Amino acid sequence: MQLVPTICTYCGTGCGLYLAVEEGKAVGIEYLSAHPASEGALCPKGNALLQILYHPDRLLYPQKKENGAFKRISWDEAYGIIADKLKEIISIYGSDAVAFYGSAQCTNEENYLLQKMGRLLGTNNIDHCARLCHAPSVAALAATLGSGAMTNTIHGFADSDCILIVGSNFTENHPVISRWVLDAKEKGAKIIVVDPRYTPTAWFADSFLQLRPGTDIALINGMISVILKEKLYNYNFIEERTEGFDDLGKSLVNYSLQEASKITGIPEDSIKEAARLYARAKNASIIYCMGVTQHRSGTDNVIALSNLALICGNFGRPGTGINPLRGQANVQGSCDMGVLPSFFPGYVKISDKAQRKRIANLWGVEDLPTQPGLTIVEIINAVHDGRIKGAYVMGESLMVSDPDTHHVEEALHKLDFLIVQDIFMTETAALADILLPAVCYAEKEGSVTSTERRVQWRHKAIEPPGEAKADWKILCELAEKMGLAEKFMYNSAEEILIEINKAIPAYGGITPARLKENIGGLCWPCPDSSHQGTPILHISSFRTPSGKGIIKPVVHREPAEIPNYEYPFTLTTGRLVLHYNSGNMTRRSPSLNKRVPEVFVEINRKDAEYLGIKPDERVKVISRRGSVEAKALITRRVAPGVVFLPFHFPGVNRLTIAELDPVSKIPEFKVATCRIEKVADQVGEQ
Ligand code: SF4
Repeated sequence: MQLVPTICTYCGTGCGLYLAVEEGKAVGIEYLSAHPASEGALCPKGNALLQILYHPDRLLYPQKKENGAFKRISWDEAYGIIADKLKEIISIYGSDAVAFYGSAQCTNEENYLLQKMGRLLGTNNIDHCARLCHAPSVAALAATLGSGAMTNTIHGFADSDCILIVGSNFTENHPVISRWVLDAKEKGAKIIVVDPRYTPTAWFADSFLQLRPGTDIALINGMISVILKEKLYNYNFIEERTEGFDDLGKSLVNYSLQEASKITGIPEDSIKEAARLYARAKNASIIYCMGVTQHRSGTDNVIALSNLALICGNFGRPGTGINPLRGQANVQGSCDMGVLPSFFPGYVKISDKAQRKRIANLWGVEDLPTQPGLTIVEIINAVHDGRIKGAYVMGESLMVSDPDTHHVEEALHKLDFLIVQDIFMTETAALADILLPAVCYAEKEGSVTSTERRVQWRHKAIEPPGEAKADWKILCELAEKMGLAEKFMYNSAEEILIEINKAIPAYGGITPARLKENIGGLCWPCPDSSHQGTPILHISSFRTPSGKGIIKPVVHREPAEIPNYEYPFTLTTGRLVLHYNSGNMTRRSPSLNKRVPEVFVEINRKDAEYLGIKPDERVKVISRRGSVEAKALITRRVAPGVVFLPFHFPGVNRLTIAELDPVSKIPEFKVATCRIEKVADQVGEQ
């Protein structure tokens, strides 16, 4: 038996494990105790990793849609059709009539190649699911700290004296992170949890603040007001390392704790207590997730947290910092690789002529497209407007992940040409014109970057099923048909990473050889091969042009939809420990799916009583955009007037709203309004 080290394919924690391989078959999992973030631990999803490898639903060969049905074709025919059709669209409508979707499930090398292909074809219409989770972190933290990534490490949470957790249910969504937070708690740290739901993460809070959905800024500004009034801020740090403190003070002169309490629904004393706990701690960290970002004020929400950390001087030491927990296994890496419409690899702005030229030179072309491309929701709107005619989707299921599914479905039907490259027949793949079978984590090699900027190597353990191929291989072979052969002369993922080492300075020293040798890889920035990586950012200066942290006043804005007579409930969505994002893998994983096989809606027991809904009764959740049938889960986890649905099931995003944050263009997944009807009532009425 051979033990092959690999990285879990699910969440951004990036846990390491060994796959046990016997006669070419993955037969088991062994725990990798030397891993710095997981130390051998795996959550239920990690433990179920083998179940998707040999699943009978795996896509085995290329297919084309003919008369509404899929028909098996050869790779050569598939590449020929794709190349002809993309060239035709570009020649008639221009390069910006095509859009590319990268995948946080794929490796850095594959995402790098996808965006390179899009850009060499002349478009920046390149995006991926970071738009739906942490685009506000990238925008806000880049503006305030000069880098949009987690500042500290996962194991470093154990060194905190106080941890402020906002909109993150990591006990379910990044379960292995819990062990480090619990470690801190056992050593005496105070834990503050801010969430509209009483989640399993809230169970171990010293202080739980159950805020009204969409009121994060009102709360954080309330805490900042207390800190200013009681002079609990870090004067020396503010003087030496920040800009904008006076403006923050002025912006909050007339903001009372009473107002903060009224907007958030949190008692004044609880806001005061949280502010004092955070500000008085020697080393305090902030952990946040999509509860903060998935709002139309997502960027400002993150800026508010950044302001709080800056005025208290909580940067550059173990157990401090501001730490966005990234969702998918390689969402950090996909952003780093430039699968973003406004940035080339390494967060080079499209408008930065010198840096754009540097990358163009590396790729052997004169220049690259100069106009920012469209984001995920904007691409769908552009399809409706007739501006986008073709889309290449690598490992992403828009039909489950994107807001307002009905609008997405109409757009995908309207496209002239849709290519989907995936491991299963997803709800999106079913609408494709050409379907390409890709391989999953154990069947290919390459690097992935976890939420703590830890770049790690995934070794190939087994051969792929049928004719399935690695995404990087598919892109190289397609490039040949597209006339880009000499720009895609790679024989391995290693060769692509060597080009990435040149393209992205922060990855300069993260070479294939070093990653293959090191369990736990290296945290970027790691500029050269003698550098040991950077687990903690901003130790002596920030990465802004002035080297200082930028404090920017922000104000509360109401969500786009407010409950009314017709839609009296606030609907919020999120994740479960047993499922993962669009559910394409976990819904096919028997040990996970049998425990939560269908969508449910959490309803407060007072609301259920008022509506006459019994536990497990089937109800219809109806928003302005659509409806979904779900099993009623009557609970105290949500406050009266709020309902929660897990978004892993098709149909849930028929309810959500595509209202966008103006800066980061993230949709407001976390707040919509709805009503609940008993299914029995509807049957009776018909
Ligand atoms: Fe995988 Fe995340 Fe679970 Fe770790 S915590 S085993 S990376 S799903």
